[in-house]
Parts: sequence; structure tokens; C-alpha cells
Amino acid sequence: MKNLFDKKNYNKTISYYKKQGIGKDLAERIYTSRLLGSDPNLVLHGGGNTSVKSKVTDLDEKNHEVLYIKGSGSDLSTIGPEGFPAVKIAPIIQLLKKEFISDVEMVEFLRKNLIDVSSPNPSVETFVHAIINNKFVDHTHSSSLLEIMNRPDGLMLCKELYGKNFTIIPYVMPGYLLAREVYKKYSKYNNKIGLILFKHGIFTYGDTGYQSYKRMIDSVNIAENFLKKEKSKRLVKIKTVKTIINSEDIAPVLRKYVSKFNRYILNYRSSKDLLSKINNKNIESYLKKGVITPDHVIRIKPFPLVINIDKCKNHQEVEKLINTAFKKYEKNYKNYFNKNIKINKNKKINILDPIPQIIYIQNLGMFSVGRSLKEAKINGDVAELSLNSIINIEQKSIFKSISSRDIFDVEYWTLEQAKLDKKKKILDGQVVIVTGGAGTIGQETAKKFHCEGAEVIIIDNDRIKLQEVRSLLKIKTYLCDVTSREAFKATMAKICKKYGGIDIVVSNAGFAYENSMVEMSDKNLKNSFNINFFSHQIVASEATKIFLKQNIGGCLLFNISKQAINPGKNFGAYGTAKSALLALCKQYALEYGSYGIRSNGVNADRIVGGLLTDEMVKRRSKARKVSENEYLRGNLLKREVFAHDVANAFFHLSISEKTTASVLTVDGGNIEASLR
Ligand code: ZN
Repeated sequence: MKNLFDKKNYNKTISYYKKQGIGKDLAERIYTSRLLGSDPNLVLHGGGNTSVKSKVTDLDEKNHEVLYIKGSGSDLSTIGPEGFPAVKIAPIIQLLKKEFISDVEMVEFLRKNLIDVSSPNPSVETFVHAIINNKFVDHTHSSSLLEIMNRPDGLMLCKELYGKNFTIIPYVMPGYLLAREVYKKYSKYNNKIGLILFKHGIFTYGDTGYQSYKRMIDSVNIAENFLKKEKSKRLVKIKTVKTIINSEDIAPVLRKYVSKFNRYILNYRSSKDLLSKINNKNIESYLKKGVITPDHVIRIKPFPLVINIDKCKNHQEVEKLINTAFKKYEKNYKNYFNKNIKINKNKKINILDPIPQIIYIQNLGMFSVGRSLKEAKINGDVAELSLNSIINIEQKSIFKSISSRDIFDVEYWTLEQAKLDKKKKILDGQVVIVTGGAGTIGQETAKKFHCEGAEVIIIDNDRIKLQEVRSLLKIKTYLCDVTSREAFKATMAKICKKYGGIDIVVSNAGFAYENSMVEMSDKNLKNSFNINFFSHQIVASEATKIFLKQNIGGCLLFNISKQAINPGKNFGAYGTAKSALLALCKQYALEYGSYGIRSNGVNADRIVGGLLTDEMVKRRSKARKVSENEYLRGNLLKREVFAHDVANAFFHLSISEKTTASVLTVDGGNIEASLR
């Protein structure tokens, strides 16, 4: 592991923050924290923490010795001054005399002693940082160290390699108990440079940020050099074969099972390197043994699900095997929960969804589960890192984790669960696609669903507009012409790999040809049906195939038009196709209702920026001898209708779980176009 400290960059950081009124202590802390954060083998996705001791003067002119400590929700790789709440040290040291305080008391106590009450919660390891006398303290979950510790002879190896310079703390659950253990064992007079927390991680400290950082890198290198010199044994692999089902086809089937209790996103990944690890013959028994460091458990659960479908002869057999595997997982997880809840102090804990967070399919790859794509990817990264270390250990020794009880205590620890973003939104874990999504109505609809917690994907055939949308809305986009079944199928395959499947489809692409029926060319009429009817059939049928595989319902939403029932002059090409679309919407409701698949539509009218261009507004208002404003408000409510009104209608239909074969009008009121 390289020492990344660079004097030039360090000076730059110090002077950058100086201009912002941030002192040298904190600026130095930010610089080396980011160095640690840049290496996933030290800390990964919010893992690890750092601190610096400094002095601040409060409003009342009183001076306080404070600890700037990483706050929860921050990531060391990108941390800034706001990520370091300042907490008073003296009260913490005073409190440590108490043998036990609860988690809630600990968090409340730390909050009471913050300098700025609006700061994030200080890390759960704040007490350990406060105990250490040195100015700078660094804590990581170094993979190399964990590979040495998680073995039957791990403690002995640690003593050999680190006993001279480090205080070795046997495994204790993080939080107050660990702080107490350190409080009892740490001595500022013993010339040591850090703490080894057995089967958890390493602390180093120093008088400067550089010293503490250097000690971290040097200490990790001791482990790395030890590992390099060790002989590896070859692990037995299974035969490499091509699975009979590919990832995009299996993902919706898996999503059915992971979404048994709540809806989840399922993200697929694979690589030669990953497969070479998953394809170890004994992978299931290795991974069943636990986690390499306690806080991984909230990301990957105590054990993953490993499936091998190589013997299956057809898709039905694969489905059957997956069904059995998930049932077994649920049973095993419930057993783990029931066994450990009996010996846990807090009997009121509810079981988390008994589904795997990580699914390995041998010869195919890994699927990671999360309530959002971001969470699923983070969980996947943690799983991959952990898999790597466990395989490394098994090549040299035997993987031995902390006990199942210890894993359980961390998994169900309220402070650990609090690290996950718990803000629940109505469409969390749902995947929405919006076709014609780069247009005005499409964008507003995408924004609305995104705000309600869904993963939204915009599909459009306009490359330039898609680019604009991507940078403006920060929403995932796919370039696709929905009049081509092959193109749409290929896009859906990508979506299934990335998200596991889909839940809501807003079929919105459309185009209006203006002409009288006699003047209308056959070509334009056919083109109109192609985009305004057939493309919707392509989208609906391909989406419904995925809904059926997932077997967890589904929601089709069509942008129809008031033209479907209240035709306008010169809009025949559009109106006739939209009438057919209304029939299509009802047909899907009829044929797939029994599978929980709903099909509804929105009839909107006079939305500027939709199919109605400024040019058309001018022309039509002139023809009716009214002002443009009067034209746009020419409805029963006398109010203009906007794209976001249409977006709201789509959203409301999506959550109206007992509504199907229905059309919602969004036109400000038009008796001729009114429906039931
Ligand atoms: Zn830790």
C-alpha cells in the first residue's frame, strides 16, 4: 500500500480552507482523511472514521477542548468540514467512568455536547477517539489486517506482528462497550502507536495528520508483506459452463422472491475475476461462516444465497430451483434470528426482511439487493470486497469470523441500522420507465416519480435532448426508438440487468400529424399509427412479459389524449390512433388484471410544450378569434393546464391500487371530452 501524502497537495488544501476560515487542524484532518478514503482496501462506503483534537471558543467566550470527529452519513473519500461535528471532550471522558449506558443515551449525550447543534451525529466510535491522547486519530477496516485476524490463529498472528507497537483489544461489539474496553486498556504512557481491534479494524494515532496517516499505511504494509510471503493453496473450482438462462432473464424471476415483503432493486454484476471466486466448489460453506468486519452485516446480511443452476435443463427447472433456494434461505435466516433473539437483551426487535442481500449464481455472477440502485451497488461493492478477503483467507488458512451472536448484535443494533437511510417514500424500490421521456410531459413525469422515491429511467429517441435531460435532471436515460421491438427489447434487457425489472411504465411517446382525412397521405397515417399506437403495443407487451416473470403486479400508464373521444378537425391521424390506444389500454386491463397488472390512461389536452407548440397555439387561437391566453384557459375551470398536472395524474393512477381500465382527464374540464 502506497503512502499517498503529497506535500504540495497538502499545502494547497490547507490554504484553500484557510481562505474559508477553516483552521489548520481541521484542514489537515480533511486532507489525510480523504487519502484514507480513496483506498477501498482501507475503508469502503462510509466505513472507518478519523478525528482531530482542537480548541474552539463558544459564543459565551468559553474555551473548549473539542474533538472534530467524522459524523454519520459522511464518506471519508469526499469528506469536508461539514462532515466533522465538533464535540466537547471533557464530558465524554467524565462519562466513561460509568460501566454501562444505552445506545440512545450515548447518542443523546454526544448531541448535548456538540458545539453546533445542527451538526450530524458524531460517529459511534467517538468515545474511542476521545480516549486517545494524541491529536490525530485514524481508524480503518484494512482488508489485509482482516485477512490475518479472521483465522483460528488470528490473535496469535496479531500479537506477533503488532504486539510491540499496538494495544490489542479482543473483539467487543462497537459502541460504548468497546469504548469502555479501550478506556481500561489504553495507556498514554506506553509509547504505542495504535490499537488493533480484533476482527474489526485498526486505529493509529499521532501528533500530526501525517504521522497518524503514515503509521496507518506502514502498519497495513506489515500485514500486506506477511500475506505476500505466505504460500497459497489452490481451491477446488466447479466446471465452467454457460448457464442456460442469461442474467436479464433470471433477474425478474429473482426480483419476485426478493420483493416478497417489500419492493427492492436488484443489480447484476459479473467479471472474469468475480466468477473465478464464485465458482469455488465450497463457496457456500466459506461464506456461511460470517463477515470479515462487523459493520459489513448491514450491507450483506450474515450470509448470502448461493445458487447453482448448471444441472437445470430448462427455465421451469431454474424457477423451481430458485423457489426452493429462497425458501431455504428464509428458513435459515429465521432460525438465525430466533436463536439469537432469545439471548438478546432487547426482545422487542422485529425481524428484518428474511431475504438475501447478495445472491451468487455460479457461472453467471452476483446480484445485489437494495432499496435504491445506489444502495444495491454499495451492498455489491461490500460483498465483492468481503468475498475477495474470504477467498484469500481460505487459500492460506481457514476463515473464522466473529460468532453468529456477535454478528446478530451488530445487524440488529439500532445505531447500525440508523446508518442506512431510513426515509421511506411511497415508491421506494420501484422501477419506472417513461417513454418519450425527454419531452415536456415526459420530463415532468420523470421528475414526479423520482421525487416519490422511484428509480426512474427516461427513454427517448432524441439523442441531443436526452443529453440535456441527463445533465439537468440527473436521471438515467436510454436512447431507444420505441417503434422498434428489437431496440426496445434490448433496452429492457439492460434495465433488467441493472435494476432487476420494472414496476411502472409510462407509455408517453407520441407525435401529431395535422391534416384533413382526404388530404392525409397513407404514409403519414401509417406513421401516426406507428408511433401513437404500435409503439405503445411494443412497450406494453414487452413490459408485461417482465411483469409476468416478476409476478408482483405491474402498472401500465398510457398517455392517450382527449382526441380519443372528442376528435378535433385536422387531427384525424392522431385521434384515430389514440382511439385505438384507448382500446389497447382497456384490453391490457382485461387480459392481465388477474395477474395484478393494472392498465390506465390519461387524457390530457392543451398542454404547452407537449404536442402543442407555440406556433400551434398562435394558429388555433387566431382561428377561434380569442387571445392565446384565453385559448389555453378555454375550459370549464378557466385555468391553463400544465405538464406537471399530467405528471400528477400519472402518479395518482400508479398508486391507486384498485383502479384499472380507467382514464383520468387532465384538461381543465371539457364536457365533450368527459368520461365516466
Ligand atoms: Zn470500525
